[in-house]
Amino acid sequence: MNVLKETRLVALRTHVLKHNDVVARSLREEFLANEVCAISLVSSPGAGKTALLEQLLGRLILQYHVAALVGDLATDNDARRLGRSGALVRQITTGTICHLEAEMVRTALLDWSLRDLDFLFIENVGNLVCPATFDLGEQIRLVLFSVTEGEDKPLKYPTIFNSADAAVITKVDLAQAVECDLPAMHRNLQLVRPGIEVLEVSAKSGQGLDQLLTFVEQSRRRQCPGT
Ligand code: MG
Repeated sequence: MNVLKETRLVALRTHVLKHNDVVARSLREEFLANEVCAISLVSSPGAGKTALLEQLLGRLILQYHVAALVGDLATDNDARRLGRSGALVRQITTGTICHLEAEMVRTALLDWSLRDLDFLFIENVGNLVCPATFDLGEQIRLVLFSVTEGEDKPLKYPTIFNSADAAVITKVDLAQAVECDLPAMHRNLQLVRPGIEVLEVSAKSGQGLDQLLTFVEQSRRRQCPGT
């Protein structure tokens, strides 16, 4: 790549990120003003974001007004799956874009009344690289990684783990079968992001779901102190 082309690409990227940050900031202000706790989920494909959300939405909807936006390159499979919980769900298909951007979130929310929501979940496109640099206006970012992915994920993709507020180790029911070294996972997480809160869950067996529920409820109380 010649120098000129490279400079142009960098300039374009800086512009895109700058615009994204402006939109993300205004979204965050709107969430706060309407007392909505916005929580995003990032992970590689197949880490279990949708399965976990299915469980979370199913439990939260008994007590709260809950909605979710789901990002994927194609298909509305996840939205249909999550919609069964009774929560308000909308799919965002990104085409060839490997991450959600704040503008996509803003557009998807246009005809929803934020005032009527307690929680908004945003499931990002499965990808551990690009979503790291795009702020979506969320108050809490959860990074998920499953016991089947290898203990060194945080070391290989430090940026996304650094951008997250808490980490969720998923599919712990499979840990033994895949000979996952859970203590090593924890060690690697703490190496990359010292002090990060880590939860172990299984959407299948239900292990750790109560703790996760407590975590999101506490997050809401912290973000929206008036509630
Ligand atoms: Mg999904």
